[in-house]
Amino acid sequence: MLESLLIIILLGPPGAGKGTVAQRLVEDFEVQHMSTGDMLRAEVSGRTELGKQIEDTVKEGKLVEDTLVSAVVKTGIDKIRTDGLPKVIVLDGYPRTEDQARSLSEFTGRDRKILVVVIDVPDEEVSARILGRRICTVCKKVYGSVEPGQRCTCGGELIQRSDDTEETVKVRLNTYHTQQAALSQYYRERVGQINGVGPINEVYKRVADYFLGLGIKKRRQ
Ligand SMILES: [Zn+2]
Repeated sequence: MLESLLIIILLGPPGAGKGTVAQRLVEDFEVQHMSTGDMLRAEVSGRTELGKQIEDTVKEGKLVEDTLVSAVVKTGIDKIRTDGLPKVIVLDGYPRTEDQARSLSEFTGRDRKILVVVIDVPDEEVSARILGRRICTVCKKVYGSVEPGQRCTCGGELIQRSDDTEETVKVRLNTYHTQQAALSQYYRERVGQINGVGPINEVYKRVADYFLGLGIKKRRQ
């Protein structure tokens, strides 16, 4: 019996903790996490036909095209369907545009449901989080906030990343809001909002409760 597929698109501004939330969802629930960044890298390192196209595009300094990203996601979803893996997919980094959303609807066919979960964080909070974080110059560990003069546990110096400036945060937030508005318009009543303010443990708890509410099964411990 072929169970139908549930696809959950995880959205949130930069610094919302999406990566951590996705990782913990995979630990606690019977879900598959699909990150387009990871998938694109896997195609490249696997030297697949798609991977070679991606590599050429990146070498030319261009952005990977919509159609190429969609093809990679389609390959991943088809694999999940045929491999008998959990039928709930948490999609991270895709779709980003209405065109991609339409492609996703098309290539996943009718036998599936698509929902969007937005981790909501006010812009001022996003800026404060990103501008407050520091990275170790030695081991590259990232700290959410630091005391003056604090050093990494490895002894390294903690500095601000060069692309964590007020200007770039503004640009990243704009990009995010454009994407979020387009997807909310496309998916409308299939969009759930999660309050993303507070410690990551609390934010995760809210997302986990939402997943339980959808009837998604927890992994047996
Ligand atoms: Zn360090």
